[in-house]
Amino acid sequence: APRSLSGMQPTSDSLHLGNYIGALVEWVRLQETHDAFYFVADLHALTTGPEPEVLRERTRLTAAQFIAGGVDPARSVLFVQSHIAQHTELNWILSCLTGFGEASRMTQFKDKSAKGTNTNVGLFTYPVLQAADILIYDANVVPVGEDQRQHLELSRDLAGRFNARFGDTLVVPEPHIMKATAKIQDLQDPTSKMSKSAATDAGLVSLLDEPSRIVKKIKSAVTDTERDIRFDEEDKPGVSNLLSIHSALSGSSIAELEIAYAGKGYGDLKKDVAEVVVETITPFRDRTLALMKDRGELDRILADGAERAREVAEATVRRVYDKVGLLPAP
Ligand code: ATP
Ligand code: MG
Repeated sequence: APRSLSGMQPTSDSLHLGNYIGALVEWVRLQETHDAFYFVADLHALTTGPEPEVLRERTRLTAAQFIAGGVDPARSVLFVQSHIAQHTELNWILSCLTGFGEASRMTQFKDKSAKGTNTNVGLFTYPVLQAADILIYDANVVPVGEDQRQHLELSRDLAGRFNARFGDTLVVPEPHIMKATAKIQDLQDPTSKMSKSAATDAGLVSLLDEPSRIVKKIKSAVTDTERDIRFDEEDKPGVSNLLSIHSALSGSSIAELEIAYAGKGYGDLKKDVAEVVVETITPFRDRTLALMKDRGELDRILADGAERAREVAEATVRRVYDKVGLLPAP
């Protein structure tokens, strides 16, 4: 079967609605048809300078949320990035093939370094490590949100460049970005994406939030001064975002929703969005909390995933080291 691979950073206790609708739902769906590899990107999270204890807790919490969302560790390889040393080995090889100008054009670095204070070299070279994460597993498809499109393009370029220079070695991955759901926006600032590391959390729907908190946030979502409910990302980004969320979780199409809400107000829409969100999130939250009660079992799942992932990663790095002219390790 073709291989699917993706990861999420443990940069917050809870995943948010964008991570869920934009990525996790697709991860779960792809398990049906693909040989799936999913990981917690703890090395990437180090670019934000987390407290060690906090990072450890969030790494387990993130893995628990993958499982709560439907990733089945018996079918998929579920692992922690830092458990596989080969990611950083391939990262170095790919770094030496990445142009400085090319890396400088990555918009996530520009956005994050403009907002944050922690502008380190790791944040700058983040997309190269991400390329290593993908290429090391010979991934065919990479299910991610729209914000990762440029990074995926870099992964494809690097695979192609490596192959052109050293002969066919790496698989060139395809992005798998769901048009309708790949960009869930912040409820308070509907022109920027919902992010774990957003400056304030008023516009962030965290999957582990108390239901009452979620309802409150959705009811105070920014809309516009008109009254009609229609999908128009240009002029009505807030309303369009609410329609996208509703549609993704309820299964109704945007067109059906527009008809259903003809003549109704924003208050009605918000009330219903809050309801579908709470319905989705309540069992998710319960499952996550239950999984976190048995750390031993969670760690066993991650150890099993690491073993399966390592087998593939080791073979790729051996192949790559040989191609570039490194002597076999004695
Ligand atoms: P951070 O702010 O720390 O970068 P994040 O919310 O962007 O956190 P990531 O761990 O970087 O989350 O990304 C995990 C996955 O979720 C990626 O596939 C990414 O494309 C997707 N994703 C992130 N935000 C959104 C969003 N607002 N809408 C849809 N998908 C998203
Ligand atoms: Mg991100």
